[in-house]
Amino acid sequence: MKKKINTGMVLVAVLGILATMVMLMAVFYGMFRRQMMADLRIYALLLQEESPEELMLTGNNMQKERVRITMLDAQGGVLYDNRTDSADMENHGLRPEIRSAMEDGEGQAIRRSATLDKSTFYYAVRLADGRLLRVATEAESIFSIVGSILPSLLWIGAVLLLLSLLLAHHLTDSLLEPVKNLADHLGDGVEITYYEELEPFVRTIQKQHSDIMENARLRQEFTANVTHELKTPLTSISGYAELIETGMASGEDVVRFAGGIHQSAQRLLYLINDIIRLSELDSPREESMTERVNLYGLAAVCVEMLEVSAGKHNVHLRMEGSTCYVQGNRLMLEELLYNLCDNAIRYNVEGGLVQVDVHREQEQVILTVQDTGIGIPKEHQERIFERFYRVDRSRSKSTGGTGLGLAIVKHIVARHQAQLKLESSPGKGTVIQVFFEAET
Ligand code: ATP
Ligand code: MG
Repeated sequence: MKKKINTGMVLVAVLGILATMVMLMAVFYGMFRRQMMADLRIYALLLQEESPEELMLTGNNMQKERVRITMLDAQGGVLYDNRTDSADMENHGLRPEIRSAMEDGEGQAIRRSATLDKSTFYYAVRLADGRLLRVATEAESIFSIVGSILPSLLWIGAVLLLLSLLLAHHLTDSLLEPVKNLADHLGDGVEITYYEELEPFVRTIQKQHSDIMENARLRQEFTANVTHELKTPLTSISGYAELIETGMASGEDVVRFAGGIHQSAQRLLYLINDIIRLSELDSPREESMTERVNLYGLAAVCVEMLEVSAGKHNVHLRMEGSTCYVQGNRLMLEELLYNLCDNAIRYNVEGGLVQVDVHREQEQVILTVQDTGIGIPKEHQERIFERFYRVDRSRSKSTGGTGLGLAIVKHIVARHQAQLKLESSPGKGTVIQVFFEAET
């Protein structure tokens, strides 16, 4: 980028210098020509007052000054010329300056001389008696003028070029300074000034940066949590096993301890399953989200499956609504339904009710899972969707929860571009709603 800007600037400078020089030459030469003609015109005006004898005298004098004087009759025949014998000269009636003078009273022309480096300037005027007076002088042509000043021009050009090189270098540096600064301090929170044109770019990068940091933090936290969660059941497995190994347990105790080992092992399995599921949902691998799924049908199947579990908890399950289609991934939706219903059953009360409803409202399909359970205190409501977060650790542990269910739900909702809503009051119950875009 630096090189590009630099080259660009130098190129512009070189073009600028060349164009300026060419234009200046053209302007100067134009001025020079006009000045020449103006001088000739003054000569002619002065000379036209002179008598033929005076004219000859002046003509002789002017020869030294390289001014040529010609007097012609009204038809263009040469009467007098201070350079050549007039008798040898042909009729000049067709020369452009003479023609113009015959017609309009005055005329001018510039003709290249035999040698390329000279031009002759002619000015002719018609006198009161019809005769024509022509004054001419030779001057350097534009080519020889250019030729003679070319060396100085080249010098000036070279100096200008050098200056513009230095300037371009300096300018490029100062142009790029804020960008470089930006790159150096993007992440460290130092306030820096940069071009407002870079604003969107900077915002994107800074957002990405903080996202990456946040992700890293979450991952670290997650790893710490996982380790901790794995440790608890493993410690109890190890403890029970040690008791059996050392023979400290006998008969009935062995059976009880084996039960403990079994439960802890089961818990580990659930945990690992959930972790695998979460990391699957985390990975950018695109699972197909394009299935047309009857959410009502899926919920009904889920409710049926959980009937046994509900019976165990002495909780009533009720399914309501009608067939509604959403676009998404069937397996994920199944998991979402299972997790929500499972919570509604597990965190319910003896003889409680769980009501699942799927219905359509305008462009939305709304899934509602409502329970008459223990509810969630306000201060926990934000956090229950975090990984491993449980309101009452001892209670959910006794029911075997790992605190990953709602984290998975949140993920699945996001993947379906749906919205989640939670309403809960302790002792009364909880309503969780998911709003999907309806599929026709
Ligand atoms: P998992 O679902 O992974 O087996 P879990 O049920 O403990 O474990 P989540 O489903 O994420 O984890 O729920 C987090 C916590 O939120 C639960 O421990 C519980 O305290 C609370 N919670 C979830 N659903 C309800 C509900 N319907 N009523 C009351 N509390 C709930
Ligand atoms: Mg759960």
